[in-house]
Amino acid sequence: MKLYFFSSGTLTCDKSLLTMGRDVGKMVTVPVPFFLIDHPKGKLLYDTGNALEVSEDARKHWGPVCDVYIPTMSKDDYILNQLEKVGVKPEEIDFVIMSHLHLDHAGGVGAFPNAKYFVQKEELQWAFAPQFYQKPAYIRADFDKDMNWYVLNGYADDGFDFFDDGSLFIWFTPGHTPGHQSLVVKLNKDGSFVLTGDCCYVEEILNEDVLPGLVWSPPHSVESIQRLRHARDVYGYAIVTGHDPWGWEKYKKAPEYYE
Ligand SMILES: [Zn+2]
Repeated sequence: MKLYFFSSGTLTCDKSLLTMGRDVGKMVTVPVPFFLIDHPKGKLLYDTGNALEVSEDARKHWGPVCDVYIPTMSKDDYILNQLEKVGVKPEEIDFVIMSHLHLDHAGGVGAFPNAKYFVQKEELQWAFAPQFYQKPAYIRADFDKDMNWYVLNGYADDGFDFFDDGSLFIWFTPGHTPGHQSLVVKLNKDGSFVLTGDCCYVEEILNEDVLPGLVWSPPHSVESIQRLRHARDVYGYAIVTGHDPWGWEKYKKAPEYYE
């Protein structure tokens, strides 16, 4: 099994949107990660980055949220063009696991004709009817598609063993949104990684008691962060933070991979 790291361009935003109340007025530029896992039983994506439209006219596709999260994206950054660099065609993707359906994660939904899309039930419901404070982060055109959805049911499906071989597990990690999920990847050679979507944007959140800047529910968020801290400190897993310009530097990027 191989794990590849990609970024769908960058976002520039106020640091306090990553760490609540900290570094107000300081702008930071962060990656927009998505991941490919090449497993003997199939090719799988965790998240899909920004939509192609963002590289053409971001304001037209995203609206005024562009003023808060300023995207920088070329056509080359689009997920299909990134995957082409490692020789993967859209038809070859068998599964897509959606951490959640925010605009910088769901931009490639629908681009993989043979894929089954794994999403949490609460995420789908919230994405179609979010409250005002998260509404700009959901672009209906990205995910309101007739997809082959596989809907997971929160804590009842927590620990979903994807291939029944102990290599990939879905963890229900709500907080950033009601239906946020993370993916544990247990590699043979390079150890175990947790791909955490937007559960903890930066390592500062793992190391210090600070909330992420955008949360649906602080108590749920803290429980999910505690679980990731435990996975790091007790299990020894690498926690791959979501929009982390400093943490991101440490990892190999595609076409290099972990195995
Ligand atoms: Zn998000």
